[in-house]
This record gives sequence, C-alpha cells and structure tokens, in this order.
Amino acid sequence: AGYEVREYLLEKWQRTCAYCGATDVPLEIEHIVPRSLGGSNRVSNLTFACRPCNQRKGHQPIETFLKNQPARLRKIQAQAKAPLRDAAVVNATRWALFERLKTTVLPVMTGSGGHTKYNRRRLGIPKTHALDAACVGPLDALHGWSRPTLAIKATGRGSYQRTRLDRFGFPRGYLVRQKRIHGFQTGDRVIAQVPSGKKAGAHIGRIAVRASGSFNLQTAQGVVQGISYRHCRVVQRADGYGYSFTLTQTEDARRVA
Ligand SMILES: [Zn+2]
Repeated sequence: AGYEVREYLLEKWQRTCAYCGATDVPLEIEHIVPRSLGGSNRVSNLTFACRPCNQRKGHQPIETFLKNQPARLRKIQAQAKAPLRDAAVVNATRWALFERLKTTVLPVMTGSGGHTKYNRRRLGIPKTHALDAACVGPLDALHGWSRPTLAIKATGRGSYQRTRLDRFGFPRGYLVRQKRIHGFQTGDRVIAQVPSGKKAGAHIGRIAVRASGSFNLQTAQGVVQGISYRHCRVVQRADGYGYSFTLTQTEDARRVA
C-alpha cells in the first residue's frame, strides 16, 4: 500500500518539493498537518518535501512555516484537497468492467500500475511496453526477458494515388500502374544474394520495387540501393505490416553505455 500511495502522490504533486519547488531531488512524504498536531495519514494530508524543507518545517503547522509565502500556502492547501479527476473516472470504469468480467466463467484478476512498477523494479527489469505487460499481476520471477521483442508495425499496402506530390501539391513523380515487378512487390521481405561487386554478400530486409528491376532493400543495417531482382528471393510476402525484433538492453549494458 505504501508503494501505491507514493506513486499516486508523485503523480499528484508532479515530483516536486511542495515548499521550495525543487525537482530531481530525493523527496520525502510529508504530512501537511503534522502527526504531532493530530494530522492524519490520509492522502489528502500528504505531500512531498525535499530533505532540507522537511527538516526546516519540523513539527510546525504549515501556516506558521509558510507565513511569508501566502500564495504557496493557498496553492498547497487547494491541491491537497483536489482529487485526481481523471483517475476517478478510470477507477469507476475499471470497477464496472471488473464486475462484468466476474460474471463470465473466466478467471479474473486485477492489478495496478503501481504493482506492475513494483514488480519491474524488484526484478531489475527495464521499462518497455512489452516488459511492463509481462510484469502485470502476481509475479515471483520473470525468465528470459532479455530476449528480443517482436515489434509489428502497420505499414499499409501502398497508396491508391499514383502521383506523388511535393509540399505545394505539384506532381513530384509518378508511381507505376502495376504493383508487381518481376514477381516482387514493395514491402516484401526478401533475401538478396549478391555474387559480386560493392554490395556483394547476403542482405535481408524489406524491398521497395522500381520498374527498372533495380530495387532498394531496407535492412537492419540501413538501405542498400540498386539490387537487381535476379538476386532476390521472397522470404515473406508483404501483408501490410512490418516486422522487426528489438533487443532490450540489460541494466548492465545501459550502465556501460
Ligand atoms: Zn524543498
């Protein structure tokens, strides 16, 4: 619960010290009305303060501590009372969804962003979309997370318009009528075995076809231009999506970088 409260408060107070506005400093949870004066542990009585401010304030009431800064005092008191409205909407919707799902026969579990982050931090896993998804819910260990992630990106199947325009709307070039050139189509994933010359070797990637039969190949290492269709072999037909593997850097690799 403490972790969730801290995450909520960090969001609410935008990771700054309430008293001096410092950011990028270690922040301590601070009772607006001190515990010693009967202040509660409710989130509406909590904010963040940097260490120096926290120590200077000590057990003073906030009105005494900020008596020379009435504007800041008003702002803190107003913000303390303000709930996160967006969060309230999400909460309500989420519970409605949860109740509906419970009426199905499927097993239903709930988790929270705070819990996901807790899992991720505890297991020393970097933040990516895929790994965050893997960290949702009860989790003791996550094996093999440093394996590459398959990223699928919608690339489209070309455009209906045959005229390319410049930014003023004038024709810049024309596309050929037929999409297939020597059996290849833009977006196909091909392997090219170039026997000789500057581009000799094997290249694999997404091709962009040209009527001349000399294609461009987009590989992980960059674009290789002017590859003849004679050297190409289709690995996967264009289906409107691009596929690539992204490697998640480990903590150690990032530290070295
Ligand atoms: Zn401060």
